Amino acid sequence: MKTALTTSPLKAARFILAGEVVAFPTETVYGLGANVFAPEAIAKIFAAKRRPADNPLIAHIADLSQLASLITHLPSAAHKFIDAFFPGPLTLVLPKSAVVPGIATAGLDTVGVRMPRHPTAHAFLEACGVPIVAPSANVSGRPSPTTWQAVRDDLDGFISCILRGEQTKVGLESTVVDCTVDAPVLLRAGAISLEDLRAIVPAIRLRTVDESEAGSPGLKHRHYAPSARVVVVAHPSDAVPTRDAAYIGLEAPSPIQAKTFKRLMMCDSVDEYAHALFRFFRQCDADRVEVIYCQAVEETGIGLALMDRIARAARR
Ligand code: AMP
Ligand code: MG
Repeated sequence: MKTALTTSPLKAARFILAGEVVAFPTETVYGLGANVFAPEAIAKIFAAKRRPADNPLIAHIADLSQLASLITHLPSAAHKFIDAFFPGPLTLVLPKSAVVPGIATAGLDTVGVRMPRHPTAHAFLEACGVPIVAPSANVSGRPSPTTWQAVRDDLDGFISCILRGEQTKVGLESTVVDCTVDAPVLLRAGAISLEDLRAIVPAIRLRTVDESEAGSPGLKHRHYAPSARVVVVAHPSDAVPTRDAAYIGLEAPSPIQAKTFKRLMMCDSVDEYAHALFRFFRQCDADRVEVIYCQAVEETGIGLALMDRIARAARR
Protein backbone atom coordinates (compact mmCIF):
# COMPACT_ATOMS: atom_id res chain seq x y z
CA MET A 1 0.00 0.00 0.00
CA LYS A 2 1.24 3.49 -0.82
CA THR A 3 1.02 5.88 2.12
CA ALA A 4 -0.09 9.37 1.00
CA LEU A 5 1.47 12.39 2.72
CA THR A 6 -0.61 15.54 2.95
CA THR A 7 -0.92 18.77 4.90
CA SER A 8 -4.60 19.08 3.95
CA PRO A 9 -7.12 18.02 6.62
CA LEU A 10 -9.76 17.80 3.88
CA LYS A 11 -7.74 15.36 1.79
CA ALA A 12 -6.95 13.29 4.87
CA ALA A 13 -10.64 13.19 5.80
CA ARG A 14 -11.50 11.76 2.37
CA PHE A 15 -9.53 8.62 3.24
CA ILE A 16 -11.58 8.25 6.44
CA LEU A 17 -14.83 8.57 4.49
CA ALA A 18 -13.52 5.84 2.13
CA GLY A 19 -13.11 3.45 5.09
CA GLU A 20 -9.33 3.87 5.41
CA VAL A 21 -7.08 4.81 8.33
CA VAL A 22 -5.20 8.12 8.66
CA ALA A 23 -2.43 9.27 11.01
CA PHE A 24 -2.93 12.84 12.26
CA PRO A 25 -1.22 15.26 14.67
CA THR A 26 -2.72 16.24 18.02
CA GLU A 27 -1.26 18.21 20.92
CA THR A 28 -0.27 14.97 22.72
CA VAL A 29 1.15 12.52 20.13
CA TYR A 30 0.18 11.51 16.57
CA GLY A 31 -2.95 9.34 16.42
CA LEU A 32 -3.99 6.66 13.90
CA GLY A 33 -7.68 7.26 13.21
CA ALA A 34 -10.71 5.51 11.75
CA ASN A 35 -14.46 6.23 11.66
CA VAL A 36 -15.85 5.09 15.03
CA PHE A 37 -18.90 3.63 13.29
CA ALA A 38 -16.88 1.53 10.78
CA PRO A 39 -15.71 -1.75 12.38
CA GLU A 40 -13.81 -2.82 9.24
CA ALA A 41 -11.82 0.40 9.23
CA ILE A 42 -11.12 0.03 12.96
CA ALA A 43 -9.79 -3.48 12.32
CA LYS A 44 -7.19 -1.87 10.01
CA ILE A 45 -5.86 0.15 12.97
CA PHE A 46 -5.26 -2.99 15.02
CA ALA A 47 -3.63 -4.72 12.02
CA ALA A 48 -1.33 -1.81 11.06
CA LYS A 49 -0.18 -1.24 14.65
CA ARG A 50 -0.09 -4.95 15.53
CA ARG A 51 -2.10 -3.87 18.56
CA PRO A 52 -3.55 -6.50 20.92
CA ALA A 53 -7.36 -6.66 20.50
CA ASP A 54 -7.90 -6.16 24.25
CA ASN A 55 -6.48 -2.62 24.15
CA PRO A 56 -9.32 -0.07 23.74
CA LEU A 57 -9.15 3.03 21.51
CA ILE A 58 -9.99 6.64 22.33
CA ALA A 59 -12.81 8.37 20.41
CA HIS A 60 -11.83 11.88 19.29
CA ILE A 61 -14.54 14.48 18.79
CA ALA A 62 -14.52 17.87 17.03
CA ASP A 63 -17.15 19.41 19.32
CA LEU A 64 -19.58 18.48 22.08
CA SER A 65 -22.43 17.81 19.63
CA GLN A 66 -20.58 14.57 18.71
CA LEU A 67 -20.55 13.33 22.29
CA ALA A 68 -24.22 12.35 22.59
CA SER A 69 -24.05 9.51 20.07
CA LEU A 70 -21.12 7.86 21.88
CA ILE A 71 -22.45 7.62 25.43
CA THR A 72 -25.58 6.72 27.38
CA HIS A 73 -25.31 9.60 29.84
CA LEU A 74 -22.82 12.13 31.21
CA PRO A 75 -21.85 11.63 34.89
CA SER A 76 -21.66 14.93 36.82
CA ALA A 77 -17.89 14.72 37.40
CA ALA A 78 -17.39 14.31 33.64
CA HIS A 79 -19.49 17.41 33.07
CA LYS A 80 -17.17 19.39 35.34
CA PHE A 81 -14.01 18.04 33.67
CA ILE A 82 -15.41 18.91 30.24
CA ASP A 83 -16.15 22.48 31.33
CA ALA A 84 -12.65 22.85 32.73
CA PHE A 85 -10.42 21.00 30.25
CA PHE A 86 -12.12 20.38 26.86
CA PRO A 87 -10.68 20.84 24.31
CA GLY A 88 -7.36 19.53 25.64
CA PRO A 89 -5.16 16.55 26.50
CA LEU A 90 -7.76 14.80 28.68
CA THR A 91 -9.63 11.54 27.92
CA LEU A 92 -12.77 10.74 29.91
CA VAL A 93 -13.93 7.13 30.22
CA LEU A 94 -17.74 7.20 29.97
CA PRO A 95 -20.65 4.73 29.68
CA LYS A 96 -20.71 3.58 26.04
CA SER A 97 -23.80 3.72 23.85
CA ALA A 98 -24.86 0.68 21.84
CA VAL A 99 -23.90 2.23 18.49
CA VAL A 100 -20.18 2.25 19.33
CA PRO A 101 -18.86 -1.09 18.03
CA GLY A 102 -17.19 -3.44 20.51
CA ILE A 103 -14.00 -3.58 18.44
CA ALA A 104 -13.40 0.11 19.26
CA THR A 105 -13.48 -0.44 23.01
CA ALA A 106 -12.04 -3.96 23.28
CA GLY A 107 -15.49 -5.21 24.26
CA LEU A 108 -15.80 -2.87 27.27
CA ASP A 109 -19.10 -1.17 28.06
CA THR A 110 -17.24 2.13 28.42
CA VAL A 111 -15.66 4.44 25.86
CA GLY A 112 -12.78 6.90 26.23
CA VAL A 113 -13.60 10.32 24.71
CA ARG A 114 -11.30 13.26 24.02
CA MET A 115 -11.61 16.58 22.21
CA PRO A 116 -8.15 17.63 20.93
CA ARG A 117 -7.15 21.29 21.08
CA HIS A 118 -4.69 21.09 18.16
CA PRO A 119 -5.99 23.20 15.22
CA THR A 120 -5.04 20.64 12.54
CA ALA A 121 -6.63 17.81 14.54
CA HIS A 122 -9.75 19.92 14.96
CA ALA A 123 -9.94 20.76 11.23
CA PHE A 124 -9.46 17.07 10.37
CA LEU A 125 -12.13 15.88 12.84
CA GLU A 126 -14.55 18.51 11.61
CA ALA A 127 -13.97 17.46 7.99
CA CYS A 128 -14.57 13.80 8.93
CA GLY A 129 -17.94 14.70 10.43
CA VAL A 130 -17.92 11.59 12.64
CA PRO A 131 -15.98 10.82 15.83
CA ILE A 132 -12.62 9.24 15.05
CA VAL A 133 -11.23 6.41 17.17
CA ALA A 134 -7.48 6.60 17.41
CA PRO A 135 -4.70 5.09 19.46
CA SER A 136 -1.15 6.44 19.09
CA ALA A 137 0.20 6.02 15.54
CA ASN A 138 3.14 3.73 16.39
CA VAL A 139 3.75 0.01 16.16
CA SER A 140 2.46 -1.38 19.48
CA GLY A 141 4.99 -1.25 22.27
CA ARG A 142 7.25 1.35 20.64
CA PRO A 143 7.52 4.96 21.83
CA SER A 144 4.52 7.01 20.71
CA PRO A 145 5.23 9.20 17.65
CA THR A 146 5.69 12.90 18.26
CA THR A 147 6.68 13.71 14.65
CA TRP A 148 5.19 12.68 11.30
CA GLN A 149 8.55 11.14 10.41
CA ALA A 150 8.23 8.79 13.40
CA VAL A 151 4.80 7.73 12.10
CA ARG A 152 6.31 7.06 8.69
CA ASP A 153 9.20 5.07 10.21
CA ASP A 154 6.71 2.75 11.93
CA LEU A 155 3.75 2.58 9.54
CA ASP A 156 4.81 3.52 5.98
CA GLY A 157 3.12 1.12 3.58
CA PHE A 158 0.63 -0.08 6.20
CA ILE A 159 -1.71 2.95 6.37
CA SER A 160 -3.40 5.04 3.68
CA CYS A 161 -2.41 8.54 4.71
CA ILE A 162 -0.34 10.68 7.06
CA LEU A 163 -1.62 14.19 7.78
CA ARG A 164 1.59 16.11 8.33
CA GLY A 165 2.05 18.58 11.16
CA GLU A 166 4.77 19.85 13.48
CA GLN A 167 6.36 17.96 16.37
CA THR A 168 3.63 17.56 18.97
CA LYS A 169 3.56 20.04 21.82
CA VAL A 170 2.97 17.88 24.89
CA GLY A 171 4.87 14.79 23.73
CA LEU A 172 3.10 12.33 26.09
CA GLU A 173 -0.32 10.68 25.65
CA SER A 174 -3.47 12.19 27.15
CA THR A 175 -4.48 11.96 30.80
CA VAL A 176 -7.18 9.25 31.16
CA VAL A 177 -9.84 9.52 33.89
CA ASP A 178 -12.54 6.92 34.56
CA CYS A 179 -15.78 8.85 35.21
CA THR A 180 -18.06 5.79 35.38
CA VAL A 181 -17.45 5.28 39.13
CA ASP A 182 -18.56 7.46 42.04
CA ALA A 183 -15.12 8.91 42.76
CA PRO A 184 -13.33 9.36 39.39
CA VAL A 185 -10.09 7.40 38.99
CA LEU A 186 -6.92 8.59 37.25
CA LEU A 187 -6.09 5.67 34.93
CA ARG A 188 -3.18 7.27 33.09
CA ALA A 189 -1.25 10.42 34.01
CA GLY A 190 -0.73 13.12 31.38
CA ALA A 191 -0.41 16.84 30.82
CA ILE A 192 -3.66 17.58 32.67
CA SER A 193 -2.17 16.81 36.07
CA LEU A 194 -3.65 15.14 39.13
CA GLU A 195 -3.44 18.53 40.86
CA ASP A 196 -5.39 20.18 37.98
CA LEU A 197 -8.07 17.48 38.17
CA ARG A 198 -8.29 17.60 41.95
CA ALA A 199 -8.98 21.35 41.79
CA ILE A 200 -12.16 20.56 39.81
CA VAL A 201 -13.25 17.26 41.46
CA PRO A 202 -11.52 16.83 44.84
CA ALA A 203 -12.72 13.21 45.15
CA ILE A 204 -10.55 11.98 42.23
CA ARG A 205 -8.15 9.24 43.26
CA LEU A 206 -5.25 7.20 41.91
CA ARG A 207 -5.66 3.57 40.84
CA THR A 208 -4.99 0.92 43.44
CA VAL A 209 -2.45 -1.77 42.53
CA ASP A 210 -5.29 -4.26 41.88
CA GLU A 211 -7.03 -1.83 39.57
CA SER A 212 -3.97 -0.93 37.59
CA GLU A 213 -4.33 -3.75 35.08
CA ALA A 214 -8.02 -4.54 35.19
CA GLY A 215 -9.37 -0.97 34.99
CA SER A 216 -7.63 0.06 31.78
CA PRO A 217 -6.66 -2.98 29.76
CA GLY A 218 -4.08 -1.17 27.64
CA LEU A 219 -2.00 -0.38 30.68
CA LYS A 220 -0.87 -3.96 31.13
CA HIS A 221 0.86 -4.09 27.76
CA ARG A 222 4.53 -3.22 27.35
CA HIS A 223 4.71 0.39 26.29
CA TYR A 224 6.81 3.28 25.13
CA ALA A 225 9.96 1.22 24.90
CA PRO A 226 12.94 1.91 22.67
CA SER A 227 15.15 -1.04 21.66
CA ALA A 228 17.81 0.31 24.01
CA ARG A 229 17.67 -0.56 27.70
CA VAL A 230 16.27 2.31 29.80
CA VAL A 231 17.80 2.97 33.22
CA VAL A 232 16.45 5.55 35.69
CA VAL A 233 19.08 7.53 37.63
CA ALA A 234 18.67 10.11 40.39
CA HIS A 235 21.68 12.16 39.32
CA PRO A 236 23.75 12.40 36.13
CA SER A 237 26.77 11.13 38.05
CA ASP A 238 24.92 7.79 38.52
CA ALA A 239 24.94 7.18 34.75
CA VAL A 240 27.88 5.24 33.29
CA PRO A 241 29.16 7.19 30.31
CA THR A 242 30.24 5.02 27.37
CA ARG A 243 30.17 5.34 23.58
CA ASP A 244 27.06 3.11 23.55
CA ALA A 245 25.14 5.06 26.19
CA ALA A 246 22.88 8.12 26.10
CA TYR A 247 21.65 10.48 28.79
CA ILE A 248 18.57 12.71 29.11
CA GLY A 249 17.70 14.81 32.12
CA LEU A 250 17.37 18.21 33.75
CA GLU A 251 20.92 18.30 35.12
CA ALA A 252 24.06 18.00 33.00
CA PRO A 253 26.75 15.38 33.53
CA SER A 254 30.29 16.67 34.13
CA PRO A 255 32.00 17.96 30.96
CA ILE A 256 34.25 14.89 30.78
CA GLN A 257 31.33 12.48 31.15
CA ALA A 258 29.27 14.51 28.71
CA LYS A 259 31.88 14.01 25.97
CA THR A 260 31.73 10.24 26.33
CA PHE A 261 27.97 9.72 25.83
CA LYS A 262 26.88 8.93 22.30
CA ARG A 263 23.81 11.12 22.72
CA LEU A 264 23.02 13.70 25.32
CA MET A 265 19.99 15.85 25.95
CA MET A 266 19.57 18.44 28.66
CA CYS A 267 16.09 19.82 29.23
CA ASP A 268 15.36 23.23 30.77
CA SER A 269 12.10 22.11 32.36
CA VAL A 270 9.98 19.03 33.03
CA ASP A 271 7.64 20.17 30.23
CA GLU A 272 10.54 20.22 27.81
CA TYR A 273 11.69 16.79 29.05
CA ALA A 274 8.21 15.36 28.39
CA HIS A 275 8.12 17.02 24.98
CA ALA A 276 11.51 15.55 24.03
CA LEU A 277 11.45 12.05 25.57
CA PHE A 278 9.89 9.85 22.88
CA ARG A 279 11.75 11.52 20.03
CA PHE A 280 14.99 11.10 21.98
CA PHE A 281 14.24 7.38 22.44
CA ARG A 282 13.76 6.99 18.70
CA GLN A 283 16.93 8.95 17.89
CA CYS A 284 18.86 6.71 20.28
CA ASP A 285 17.52 3.61 18.51
CA ALA A 286 18.56 5.04 15.13
CA ASP A 287 22.06 5.56 16.59
CA ARG A 288 22.10 2.00 17.99
CA VAL A 289 22.51 3.26 21.53
CA GLU A 290 22.42 0.33 23.99
CA VAL A 291 21.58 2.06 27.28
CA ILE A 292 19.58 5.25 27.83
CA TYR A 293 19.95 6.85 31.25
CA CYS A 294 16.94 8.97 32.22
CA GLN A 295 17.21 11.32 35.17
CA ALA A 296 14.25 11.00 37.56
CA VAL A 297 12.10 14.09 38.23
CA GLU A 298 9.63 14.91 40.98
CA GLU A 299 6.26 13.20 40.43
CA THR A 300 4.13 16.34 40.45
CA GLY A 301 2.44 18.12 37.55
CA ILE A 302 3.43 16.51 34.26
CA GLY A 303 6.33 14.91 36.17
CA LEU A 304 3.94 12.13 37.26
CA ALA A 305 3.20 11.28 33.61
CA LEU A 306 6.84 11.55 32.58
CA MET A 307 8.00 9.17 35.33
CA ASP A 308 5.16 6.76 34.46
CA ARG A 309 6.32 6.55 30.82
CA ILE A 310 10.00 6.24 31.78
CA ALA A 311 9.21 3.51 34.33
CA ARG A 312 7.21 1.55 31.74
CA ALA A 313 9.98 1.91 29.18
CA ALA A 314 12.47 0.66 31.77
CA ARG A 315 10.34 -2.43 32.52
CA ARG A 316 11.44 -5.45 30.50
P1 AMP B 1 -3.28 4.96 23.17
O1 AMP B 1 -4.11 5.98 22.45
O2 AMP B 1 -2.44 4.14 22.23
O3 AMP B 1 -2.47 5.59 24.24
O4 AMP B 1 -4.29 3.94 23.85
C1 AMP B 1 -5.45 4.36 24.50
C2 AMP B 1 -5.40 4.01 25.95
O5 AMP B 1 -6.46 4.71 26.61
C3 AMP B 1 -5.64 2.53 26.25
O6 AMP B 1 -4.45 1.78 26.21
C4 AMP B 1 -6.26 2.57 27.65
O7 AMP B 1 -5.23 2.62 28.62
C5 AMP B 1 -7.01 3.91 27.65
N1 AMP B 1 -8.45 3.70 27.38
C6 AMP B 1 -9.10 3.92 26.21
N2 AMP B 1 -10.40 3.57 26.32
C7 AMP B 1 -10.59 3.11 27.57
C8 AMP B 1 -11.72 2.60 28.28
N3 AMP B 1 -12.92 2.49 27.71
N4 AMP B 1 -11.53 2.22 29.56
C9 AMP B 1 -10.33 2.34 30.13
N5 AMP B 1 -9.23 2.81 29.51
C10 AMP B 1 -9.34 3.21 28.24
MG1 MG C 1 -0.32 3.93 22.39
